[in-house]
Amino acid sequence: MVTDHGGGVWSVQVPIPDNPLGYTLVHLLDTDRGPVLVDTGWDDPDSWDALVNGLAECGTSVGEVYGVLLTHHHPDHHGLSGRVREASGAWLAMHPADTAVVRRTREAPARLWLDYLIDKLAAAGAPDEHLVPLRTARAAGRGRVLPGERPALPDREIVPGELVDAPGRRLRAIWTPGHTPGHVCLHLEEGRRLFSGDHLLPGITPHIGLYEDPEDGTASDPLGDYLDSLERIARLDPAEVLPAHQHAFAGAPDRVRELLAHHAERLADLRALIAVRPSTPWQLAESMRWNRAWDELPHRSRNIAVAEAEAHLRRLVKLGLAEPVAGSHPVRYAAA
Ligand SMILES: [Zn+2]
Ligand SMILES: [Zn+2]
Repeated sequence: MVTDHGGGVWSVQVPIPDNPLGYTLVHLLDTDRGPVLVDTGWDDPDSWDALVNGLAECGTSVGEVYGVLLTHHHPDHHGLSGRVREASGAWLAMHPADTAVVRRTREAPARLWLDYLIDKLAAAGAPDEHLVPLRTARAAGRGRVLPGERPALPDREIVPGELVDAPGRRLRAIWTPGHTPGHVCLHLEEGRRLFSGDHLLPGITPHIGLYEDPEDGTASDPLGDYLDSLERIARLDPAEVLPAHQHAFAGAPDRVRELLAHHAERLADLRALIAVRPSTPWQLAESMRWNRAWDELPHRSRNIAVAEAEAHLRRLVKLGLAEPVAGSHPVRYAAA
């Protein structure tokens, strides 16, 4: 399905198979050198067909694409980029912090990724019954079962604060780390419209976990980055937000305020919990509120939940409100 947003901007719904999100909105921006895409969609034959047909409905074709701007490296955004480049010769551009993630994913064998995940979950206090399926997969030589395991390496860097290569347009990159370390929004200055990727969505709180970096000790603070990035977008106050999921909307500062309040509440809840009893990230994830009861959360969702708990703990530590209990393994956190 295609929506004409006016002013030479369209969105194409590109389905994400077996995912409650439903689809990615791939945006098309008309430029003097041909269409520039913002994101490409999930790497699947049906998704590819939807993109190809959608571009035809916009009066162009995939072969005409001049360039692709990636808001971030996730497979529902970057999955089809390689195919688009093959079909068109278009350049692919991404922020270097996310390109680094792509490079790591391409180079690391799936086995290493599983080792990293198992170690991380064990250190966060995951019980054996949660780790058994992962250990079994590792022993059987299975890897991370995700499409786009060899995602395309971008050709260009998106430079924060600069205009991107969209001839005849003023489209400026805004670095909005948090959801991923190199997430960017793109501000179309004529009309003050913001392509917001996963940073700002009308009805979904984007996942904020720890950055998937085996080399990261305790230096990064993804939630802190995210909250700063949100405030940057509120100050920008775009007239219209064109997100990568759901639908276009107005009133970015109001939506930012809701998200800031949501995370402030989560931080306060966690701090109250560890003030009563020092706890592991896993125990805290169990007592946080999710979209369904903990017992009903699928295996993968629990991994995401514990990462979310850890991102909030990292923030509390940076604020001086929590600290790891010395010598605890798995690590427990106490109120500071
Ligand atoms: Zn994402
Ligand atoms: Zn997404």
